[in-house]
Amino acid sequence: MKVYLVGAGPGDPELITVKGKKLLEEADLIVYAGSLVNPGLLEYAKPEAVKVDSAPRTLEEIVEIMVEYARAGKIVVRLQTGDPALYGAVEEQKRALKAYGIELEWVPGVSSFLGAAARLGYELTVPDGTQTVILSRVAGRTPVPEKENLEELAKIGSTLVLFLSVDKIDEVVAQISRVRALDTPVAVVYKATFPEEKIVIGTLADIAQKVKEEKINKTALIFVGEFLNPPPTRSKLYAPDFTHGGRRESD
Ligand code: SAH
Repeated sequence: MKVYLVGAGPGDPELITVKGKKLLEEADLIVYAGSLVNPGLLEYAKPEAVKVDSAPRTLEEIVEIMVEYARAGKIVVRLQTGDPALYGAVEEQKRALKAYGIELEWVPGVSSFLGAAARLGYELTVPDGTQTVILSRVAGRTPVPEKENLEELAKIGSTLVLFLSVDKIDEVVAQISRVRALDTPVAVVYKATFPEEKIVIGTLADIAQKVKEEKINKTALIFVGEFLNPPPTRSKLYAPDFTHGGRRESD
């Protein structure tokens, strides 16, 4: 017995994978995170499919209904925003289902940070600049280990992407400003790839004010780093003098 754990992508219903869409079309039960998943995705489902919003329910309730359908031999899809492997609270669902002998079959999705990068139109790694992207968050109900505090992460000077943190934009800016220049570029992307998307661009000095003016306090990502202001250098990959020995796919 299994439950398909499907990444819904960032928002735009066309940004789910082909495999994910096929499973939505076949599903008898779809349990979706109503607060984040675009309802447009549910239109792929057959009319008789049962759709359950997980947002107002407990883990036990979610698991109970998935178990009932899976045991009856039905196709069950657990639809989660972006990619399930990031901030998806998947482990607890996995454990609970396993106790009933049910395995998860994962289908990845386009994480919201990649959807947002596409909307920003910038590469997160930079030729002659940072080659590292850090994905993190500030502590909320879920704690963050002390050694992963923002000041430490920001010190590295890489591209920094923060999930689940826009409601604490003042705290984010204060911590990063201790180690990065105030003119460091920052972008906040609200509901990337949804019709109500908003993009706010600024610096550490003014982003908090701008985000508040736009009344953004949830469903947004914070991007920090010089990738938003890349140097006009070119990568080695397509350079004419890089051809001898063939173009290496790996670099
Ligand atoms: N697994 C998801 C993240 C879930 S945590 C993923 O891969 O994207 C929920 C957080 O993700 C939100 O608080 C917000 O920070 C971010 N998020 C999810 N969808 C978003 C979107 N369309 N635009 C901007 N941020 C989004």
